[in-house]
Amino acid sequence: MEYKNSLSFAQKLDKKDPLRKYRKKFHLPKRKNGKPYIYLCGNSLGLQPKKTKSGIEQELKDWKNYGVEGHFHAKNPWMPYHEFLTTAMAKVVGAKPTEVVVMNTLTVNLHLMMVSFYRPTAKRYKILIEKDAFPSDKYAAESQLRFHGHDPKKGLIELAALPGEVCLREEEIKKAIAKHGDELALIMLGNTNYYTGQFFDMKKISQWGHEQGCIVGFDCAHGAGNVELDLHESGCDFAVWCSYKYLNSGPGSLGGVFVHERHIKDKKLPRFEGWWGHNKETRFRMRDNFEPIPTAEAWQLSNPPILSMAAIWSSLKLYEKAGMERLTEKSKKLTGYLEYLVNELGKEVVEVITPSDPKQRGCQLSIQVKKADKKLYDRLTKKGVIADWREPDVIRVAPVPLYNSYEDVYLFAKKLRSVIKKK
Ligand SMILES: *Cc1c(COP(=O)(O)O)cnc(C)c1O
Repeated sequence: MEYKNSLSFAQKLDKKDPLRKYRKKFHLPKRKNGKPYIYLCGNSLGLQPKKTKSGIEQELKDWKNYGVEGHFHAKNPWMPYHEFLTTAMAKVVGAKPTEVVVMNTLTVNLHLMMVSFYRPTAKRYKILIEKDAFPSDKYAAESQLRFHGHDPKKGLIELAALPGEVCLREEEIKKAIAKHGDELALIMLGNTNYYTGQFFDMKKISQWGHEQGCIVGFDCAHGAGNVELDLHESGCDFAVWCSYKYLNSGPGSLGGVFVHERHIKDKKLPRFEGWWGHNKETRFRMRDNFEPIPTAEAWQLSNPPILSMAAIWSSLKLYEKAGMERLTEKSKKLTGYLEYLVNELGKEVVEVITPSDPKQRGCQLSIQVKKADKKLYDRLTKKGVIADWREPDVIRVAPVPLYNSYEDVYLFAKKLRSVIKKK
């Protein structure tokens, strides 16, 4: 596509955008002067859909009117409430509904998955992660190693980019997996990487891992709702993600879990158990031995927070209507436009460190601003942009296809240019 660096060009693209009506379905944070911010931070906290409020109010109302009877008599009964989310969530991540459940929060789920899938032996005990993995993922992996009596210094393998590079090369991932081979118990990568925005080929990595006899899991916090995931088809063993980033479900909202169907009925798989994972027919008899539900729901521990789920449901309804396919199509164009405009600023001043191949990224671009510090970012904020600053010199910008416009992207680049000039 031919891009142009002009406001009228951006506005023309907005007019032709088949998803443009979705912007009006969100609350855009406003500046003191009443104008909306240019919000490019949906990779950190997605915006609030306008329908979320009534979704939550429905549950408050039913709680008020029914008390405990709401479990069965609420408009959306709380007993099976999590099931209302499953099909739509499974679609977002490319899985079968039996492979997906919404529960807990991300790091909790990562630990629960490692309880089942990180089963170290004396020889095969190492965990492979990225060098710049999200801190929580690293802490989780290190503490699991320690929990099983291993020294993280030996057991945690951190995959680094080649000297002078920021993103990981596929062949380097392949090499590392082969090199550590039968010492590797688990491969666990963030997909998409939160810092660089790089999206890894899950199918290839799963295959390489499985060839060496390792388990392969992904943290899709930055992938879910951002890139077209195909978790089932990828063959990975498990995945976890959160719903407050691209999935617009509110601060600290619940996460999702994927367990590949080949594991679901495996009776030998260890698991931490709770009553919500038990056979729904006999759950309330309370005295039976644990009988796991034959889906990913078996990993549930507690009865879930309905108010948080109401927010997720409101958001998933938008995803269902917009469709991941259309969203990714727009995302590629929108991010392509951002890339074009940022590159226009000149490689001497800025460099996009996210891969330029659209198949290797979602909507986020990480922009390195040469010789800049946080003051530059603060000036950008004063000009009405909300993005994200990562030390020492990177601005992460995520134009989200559900609510961001080509005009947002154009104005962002214009403001970035002006703060760089004043530097
Ligand atoms: C956002 C994010 C987290 C946050 O974890 P919580 O348990 O939801 O606080 C963890 N890992 C990655 C890769 C993330 O992007």
